[in-house]
Amino acid sequence: MYSFYPGPSAVNPRLPEFFNEAFEKSLMSVNHRSPEFVEISRKTTALMREKLDMPEDYRLFFVSSATECWEIVAQSLTLSESFHVYNGAFGQKWTRNASKLGRRVLKHYFDVDDLPNPENIHIPETSEVLCLTHNETSTGTELPDSVMRGFRKNFDGLIAVDATSSMAGLQLDWKQADVWFASVQKCFGLPAGMAVMICSPQAIRRAYDIGESSHYNSFTFMADMGREFQTTHTPNVIGIYMLMRTLEESKHISEIEKLTLSRFVEWEKLIAGNNTFSWLIQNPEARSRTVIPLQADPKIVLKIKDEAKKAGFLLGNGYGDWKESTFRIANFPNVPQEGVNGLMNFFKENFS
Ligand SMILES: *Cc1c(COP(=O)(O)O)cnc(C)c1O
Repeated sequence: MYSFYPGPSAVNPRLPEFFNEAFEKSLMSVNHRSPEFVEISRKTTALMREKLDMPEDYRLFFVSSATECWEIVAQSLTLSESFHVYNGAFGQKWTRNASKLGRRVLKHYFDVDDLPNPENIHIPETSEVLCLTHNETSTGTELPDSVMRGFRKNFDGLIAVDATSSMAGLQLDWKQADVWFASVQKCFGLPAGMAVMICSPQAIRRAYDIGESSHYNSFTFMADMGREFQTTHTPNVIGIYMLMRTLEESKHISEIEKLTLSRFVEWEKLIAGNNTFSWLIQNPEARSRTVIPLQADPKIVLKIKDEAKKAGFLLGNGYGDWKESTFRIANFPNVPQEGVNGLMNFFKENFS
């Protein structure tokens, strides 16, 4: 079965090998204060710089999920108010997490077919952190680099970005934000249960200025321990090891992005010539290049998903309001090329 689910999604096919290595090397019971662990942690950080172009002065942290990152941003980087620009379910969940932690949350909602215009969005001086979702997995939309640059230019505070379904699939312009995070079960092609958080020197400084220290994952503790490439608690060592090995064997992100974009162009062609389903997102500028939501009559959507499954292709369900009328296709790098070709042929032969 080829999974086109936008998370948890198709994994790196070499994982069994890496998992076995970890077992053979006794890493499954390695102490997280040991030199062996520190070496894995240090190496993974170096590989994030080498393969994903993470800037020299940004630091990498290992956490358990993107959801945890929403909390860390609210609890440790926001004293009183954050400003959220979003158009879908994940961006909205972030606002809920921040307000449950007692932060004042200001929201700017934009339509899925619009791009936010940073020059026209008034962010008050009282807002300390601007929270953006780079790739909104629920709606299949993406913030182009030009919009990210616009926010950086027009806002002086910290910018935090949820890039869960784009990091490791697209090249990110890291300097346009201070905190980037992603759980690894999307474009990284790893099993769920871990996330990476990448932070600028400004973000780290701000955390120390605020000095919040009431939680096991208070960012100042993470930054203290991280200086020695350690964590505040026993981390997902195997997850980190698999990330390290995956990055080691992976091409540079510029090559991976080429693959993502060339497959996206193929999908665009197929969708343009298809009479059964069409884009949920009408505005091509707003479309995500890693998550493709397609709409059709709900009865047809059911039939497509059903028959695709019988043919060996697992499609993603629609999300929220579009649960019945759409399905989603993950355009993630770890989906094998045979799977992509197979699904394209399946559509051409059965639902053209
Ligand atoms: C999948 C996803 C999340 C949730 O990730 P968890 O690992 O479950 O916390 C958050 N944001 C986006 C954009 C996602 O795609």
